[in-house]
Amino acid sequence: SKSGRRPLIAGNWKMNGLRSSVPVVEAIRDGLSPELTSRIDVLVCPPSTLISSCVAAVYGSAIAIGGQNLHAKASGAFTGSISAEMLADLGATYVIVGHSERRAYHHETDDGVHAKALGARRAGLCGIICVGETQEEREEGRTLDIVRAQLAIGVPKGAKASDTVIAYEPVWAIGTGLTPTPADIAEVHASLREMLGQLIGAEAAKVRILYGGSVKPGNARELMAVENVDGALVGGASLVASDFLGIAAAY
Ligand code: PGA
Repeated sequence: SKSGRRPLIAGNWKMNGLRSSVPVVEAIRDGLSPELTSRIDVLVCPPSTLISSCVAAVYGSAIAIGGQNLHAKASGAFTGSISAEMLADLGATYVIVGHSERRAYHHETDDGVHAKALGARRAGLCGIICVGETQEEREEGRTLDIVRAQLAIGVPKGAKASDTVIAYEPVWAIGTGLTPTPADIAEVHASLREMLGQLIGAEAAKVRILYGGSVKPGNARELMAVENVDGALVGGASLVASDFLGIAAAY
């Protein structure tokens, strides 16, 4: 662990998986050694339809189950939406907030991310707040400005390491096989940690900052070794138990 922060390897299944996919989480459960889970946290975020069955599958193991999105309010006339309280009621303990696909396809704003992060905290969930620049923003040299602003608006006042995780996911690296260089990731993560310090003071040193975007077994060791990288948010590779386990083994 870096500076006492316990690494988190998180899988985001996105809109993938039927009931027939629950054995994937069982294989992840069975493939994690007690030695590894004594040192790292492991999380799987399946679609909402599978949360109950995945919670049952990992019962008594070290794996946590999370949601991929939430509505900011606890309940009400919001057809089709799911609240943090509902996720917690199923046994979820984390929820992804402001993933770039939510921002791109569901018009989520930084203010909306802030409201959702508050909702997660209200229900006792740990919110994984996602930030990241587009290809165009990187080419324009605006990466740090973009991610710092996303963080400054998204992270609630008084955020704690126990209720907040940050994930840096460059939009152009998601599902593309492309990744920033370790030096580029180090620069962004250092800047995010500095910004967090402005927002929440000394607690910033305890908050985990994950890297996400085309993390695979073959590049995990190099990416996870970068300073201020406290784990990974894994999309495609989390759908294959052996790949996800290979990434976790980078620790
Ligand atoms: P990927 O997705 O690992 O498939 O690039 C990462 C994510 O969207 O969280």
